[in-house]
Amino acid sequence: MAEKSAGKKQSCARKSRKATTKKKKHYDVSFYHDWCKACGICMAFCPQKIIQADKNGKPGISEMDKCVGCRFCEIHCPDFAITVSDRKRNRRQNDV
Ligand code: SF4
Ligand code: SF4
Repeated sequence: MAEKSAGKKQSCARKSRKATTKKKKHYDVSFYHDWCKACGICMAFCPQKIIQADKNGKPGISEMDKCVGCRFCEIHCPDFAITVSDRKRNRRQNDV
């Protein structure tokens, strides 16, 4: 009986270790400034508040890694000027 519960504890520990080592997903957000009318909706809807206006009122992102991929900006843009995509991992990022 004691052996069974020890085994269970080990498997739980293994599962929690797996959960903590899960990598954060990253996203890329592209703006088509030719279609954008600088309405500011995307900036207002972004829950991370990472979309800022440039001097012409057009959006841009300075800290792309903070994007959570919710796609609120893409969905609410009235001019379809935003595309959010999963960032592909660079397979050679550890190469010298
Ligand atoms: S996908 Fe979400 S978090 Fe990322 S820029 Fe758009 S609204 Fe902000
Ligand atoms: S919601 Fe669309 S049109 Fe409005 S500022 Fe953002 S990208 Fe431009």
